[in-house]
Amino acid sequence: MSATVIDGKAFAATVREKVASHVARLKAEHDITPGLAVVLVGEDPASQVYVRSKGKQTVEVGMNSVEHKLDAATSESDLLALIDQLNADPTVHGILVQLPLPDHLNEDLVINSIAPSKDVDGFHISNVGLLGTGQQSMVPCTPLGCLMMLRDHHGSISGLDAVVIGRSNIVGKPMAQLLLGDSCTVTIAHSRTKDLAETVRRADIVVAAVGRPEMVPGDWIKPGATVIDVGINRIDAPEKGPGKTRLVGDCHYESCAAVAGAITPVPGGVGPMTIACLLANTVTACCRANDLDPPEGLTA
Ligand code: NDP
Repeated sequence: MSATVIDGKAFAATVREKVASHVARLKAEHDITPGLAVVLVGEDPASQVYVRSKGKQTVEVGMNSVEHKLDAATSESDLLALIDQLNADPTVHGILVQLPLPDHLNEDLVINSIAPSKDVDGFHISNVGLLGTGQQSMVPCTPLGCLMMLRDHHGSISGLDAVVIGRSNIVGKPMAQLLLGDSCTVTIAHSRTKDLAETVRRADIVVAAVGRPEMVPGDWIKPGATVIDVGINRIDAPEKGPGKTRLVGDCHYESCAAVAGAITPVPGGVGPMTIACLLANTVTACCRANDLDPPEGLTA
């Protein structure tokens, strides 16, 4: 195996340290404590785990965490009323509505009711437009984490050929915008791409965000390329015992690591960066709300 392993767990710890020291400065110098409100509707077990983890990490970096747990049958008007209240609350700098929402709630309507300046997930249509036109915005956490790791590893990624596999609004499209913003030549591949293998082989940077276990084999990777594996897929692991499972990415780790220059593992790569970037976005939103400079290196 030749690739440098990009350790997302360690990198996320440094992001959290930067956030914590900035939060301490905001408190000491300005008497401001950044606050993140997370809204969870219903009892989806995975969402409950994410929300708990977000709340815990928010408190650990010294910020205020407010959780609003609503019944699965909550009406759209009640949810919108809560978001209005959070939009108006000066102690809340970031608002996150945990997705997916129950079927009777219109996700687009709910997300677009969050004040864009408090939209720490970066999903509001205004933030999507601002990012697409190269203006200051709130940036979706997972692609922001990928960009931070790429900048850290390469220094500059200007002029490199990048292929993003996947075109979701949450990962693929904003990732492509961020790479373009850093002057990569960007290709977005998806399920209709004609020759995915050849497309990937041209890339200096491959970001895989598909959700198909180990679909990218090592012989698609250009020697020395950087592979950022966003995929999180749970597969059976009979070698660990009956009924056991394990997590794998969208890239076949061993064969890709044998060819790539650098690679993120799954787990322990992109995953830990996502919540760290949520914390970074919250401190950024708080600084902007108070006409202060956000911490360096934590924004796009
Ligand atoms: P989506 O299902 O929304 O999008 C998947 C994309 O992959 C689509 O654009 C789809 O193309 C494309 N695709 C599907 N099959 C193929 C194929 N055979 N060849 C090429 N492209 C294909 O997924 P998300 O973007 O939400 O998530 C992607 C992965 O990232 C998932 O594993 C998810 O769990 C993980 N994830 C990880 C996060 C983290 O914190 N690390 C955060 C968010 C997601 P088309 O549009 O044509 O259908």
